[in-house]
Amino acid sequence: MKSAHSVAWLPLAIGIGLAVLGAQTPPYDLVIRNARVIDGTGNPWYRAEVGIRGDEIAAIATRIDAEARRTIDAAGSVVAPGFIDVHVHAFGGAGQPPSLLPIIEVPTADNYVRQGVTTLIGGPDGFSPVPIKATLELAAKTGIVPNLGTFVGHGSIRSAVFGSVNRMPTLDELERMRALVREAMRDGAFGLSTGLFYVPAIFSTIDELVELARVAGEMGGIHISHVRDEESGVEASVRETIAIGERGGLPTQVTHHKTIGKRWWGKTIDTLRLVDEARRRGVDVTVDVYPYPASATSISAALMPTWAQEGTRDDIVKRLRDPATRRRILGDTLQIILDGRGGGDPRTIMVSRCDWNPALAGKRLDDVAVERGRSRSVEDAADTALWLVENGDCGGIYFAISEDDIQRVLRHPASMVASDGQVVLFGRANPHPRSYGTFARVLGRYVRELNTLSLEEAIRKMSSYPAQRLGLMDRGVLRERMKADIVIFDPATVRDAATFEQPHQYAQGVSVVVINGHVAFENGTITAARPGRILYGRGYAR
Ligand SMILES: [Zn+2]
Repeated sequence: MKSAHSVAWLPLAIGIGLAVLGAQTPPYDLVIRNARVIDGTGNPWYRAEVGIRGDEIAAIATRIDAEARRTIDAAGSVVAPGFIDVHVHAFGGAGQPPSLLPIIEVPTADNYVRQGVTTLIGGPDGFSPVPIKATLELAAKTGIVPNLGTFVGHGSIRSAVFGSVNRMPTLDELERMRALVREAMRDGAFGLSTGLFYVPAIFSTIDELVELARVAGEMGGIHISHVRDEESGVEASVRETIAIGERGGLPTQVTHHKTIGKRWWGKTIDTLRLVDEARRRGVDVTVDVYPYPASATSISAALMPTWAQEGTRDDIVKRLRDPATRRRILGDTLQIILDGRGGGDPRTIMVSRCDWNPALAGKRLDDVAVERGRSRSVEDAADTALWLVENGDCGGIYFAISEDDIQRVLRHPASMVASDGQVVLFGRANPHPRSYGTFARVLGRYVRELNTLSLEEAIRKMSSYPAQRLGLMDRGVLRERMKADIVIFDPATVRDAATFEQPHQYAQGVSVVVINGHVAFENGTITAARPGRILYGRGYAR
């Protein structure tokens, strides 16, 4: 009797058990079927299905039969790790109020996510919030779409401790700078960024940089540098970046590697040789690159002599209003337009953003001169550049990089792709198109059209390589138990659409972006999900 009773109930019990189990945890939240998987390591694609549970990749197999809450058919598309950008101006310029930081103003970061970028690393070129903690907390509270991390900027630390002046720090000041690097590393920075081209970092010696880099290195960080000189002094500058890594005992990276100015085209042959030699003797040096023939930075930083940029904005304007000093500055600016970023021709300089006169955005420097009633001469262009600075400064775009150099750097095995772009409010000003197009442009133009590198190699440079560089060991590769940051795109149509004339155009060919297991972009729109997390470097003290 008793045993018959038990037997009768057994199948029902199992049934209830399965039903409860099924209701609590269906096997997968999302399964991507019919995928051509490019896993990010550089290995050739293979056919597989990808099962996601929670924020992780739970399974990758030739066939996943278990049920899923949702299925995406990726037939004809490539499924790859979400792209990781190690050089993003996510926090804007110095002195920006926190509520107007670009990633807070535009937490969806559409211009990046629509290219398949799932992680943004801010604080490049020596500029970051100091300290970083409050800004990262604000971003987390705001709710962001991509993941976000940051470097801590040497220039910002230097300014915070003793201002924008041309001298070495005292021992006490150096100790305070070291303490700020240590604090930032504990708060989760991925390392130290330097912008030796910019004031105030331009005033620092290598000894100062090594001292600070060492602190970042001891706490697991890397050094990433906008080098001192990308023109005549580019070799010495790459040597310096290598030396900071070698003497500071930490990985070091030349960011947005290029040579600017026609006279210096082809120099990347020599600089990449320096990188190879350093690597051969054991220095962990890498580079990153954006795929465009023009650079972008402020008119003052690009076209004024360093000595005239020292101090506060008031100091700079005072110099420009003193006739004798202005004449000296004008002479130097003329030379910079002739030999350096100006490419010898004011038409190669484009105004990108002027907060004090938005109508100037998109205009060439010689056209601005004509609008002021001047000629198209280089002299009047130089005068106009100073006039722009005097009125509040503007952003500028400078067409002075060669296609050969871009391709050479892209092909180098120790290079990765990074945008040097900004989180952009759609339609505002005239940003460099790299903000909208970098990753899609590499896949469309340099992989599909020009065959500069294979699709698998390009993906590697956008995913596992930057992840490895940052120490993000759970992202950048499609493998079980990795975080589910995934991009699905059509390799036959993926392309950038943003141009220098009309930059506000989203990249095309990306169909779905998954971040931490959530679909963040599909059907041409950013979803309501805000799945982005703050990512922390190895020195993070939880
Ligand atoms: Zn830079």
